[in-house]
Amino acid sequence: KEYIEECNQFVAEFEETIQKPKLHPSSIYYTGVDLGTACIVLAVLDENYQPVAGAYRYADVVRDGMIVDYIGAVEIVRELKAELEEKLGTELVYAAASLPPGTDELDGGAIKNVVQSAGFELTNLLDEPTAANQLLKVTEGAVVDIGGGTTGISILENSEVVKIADEATGGTHLSLVIAGSYKCSFQEAETYKHDPKNHDELLVTLKPVIEKISSIIVQQTEGYEIPAIYLVGGTACLKNIEQIIQKSTGIKTYKPVNPMFITPLGIALSC
Ligand code: ATP
Repeated sequence: KEYIEECNQFVAEFEETIQKPKLHPSSIYYTGVDLGTACIVLAVLDENYQPVAGAYRYADVVRDGMIVDYIGAVEIVRELKAELEEKLGTELVYAAASLPPGTDELDGGAIKNVVQSAGFELTNLLDEPTAANQLLKVTEGAVVDIGGGTTGISILENSEVVKIADEATGGTHLSLVIAGSYKCSFQEAETYKHDPKNHDELLVTLKPVIEKISSIIVQQTEGYEIPAIYLVGGTACLKNIEQIIQKSTGIKTYKPVNPMFITPLGIALSC
């Protein structure tokens, strides 16, 4: 629980800097670049690894962790970088990035190229759940990153990552189910899903897919001692998703207040 409280504090400070960057001098800045299926997030930390600025944009340039629009991805990262540089009055040089577990051979090069082509010097490239744990600091348990296209799982024992896995079920599937049930477009379903006011009603429709995500967690954690699950990723924003996962996995499940920013901040911490 204390992990989550510390995270909440850090994320709240970061969210404030998205609205109002901190302009105190810093000898160096570290930027976390999270190229997501639904959203591209840049998180900037100062020399003491404290949040100073951030920016994000919903985009359709990555699918299931794979870059499908390379030029579009470079443009967005470059624009967000320029926006942040103007606000901070400084050049952002160093960046780290992440990718879904197990996709480095397929796509690690593309992500590296996007970050470098946008003008950064890439200092680290790590998998998403491990990045999230730079902030969560879980020593024992499973960090589960429910993103747009996939669910990434990282199992930790004695603070060491002993297993990582990634499976193709995430928020995109939830939106497809909403689009089917409510007879609306995918985009309308996404917009509806993002509004917390609709979450209680949606959970009834979405329960089977969330249970599918739970069964993936159970499958991937089989044979390991898992005292707790820590949820991150945009899809974990769904109200009470942690309760369904806790019930169907039988494992105590925690989530931070804004699980969407844990990975980008963790990436920046690894820079
Ligand atoms: P992946 O990790 O699969 O590459 P990603 O990094 O884009 O995807 P995130 O940004 O962590 O993933 O999460 C994106 C998903 O979170 C999308 O499916 C989006 O619809 C969903 N999402 C974002 N905000 C909310 C919200 N408030 N409520 C419900 N779902 C949300």
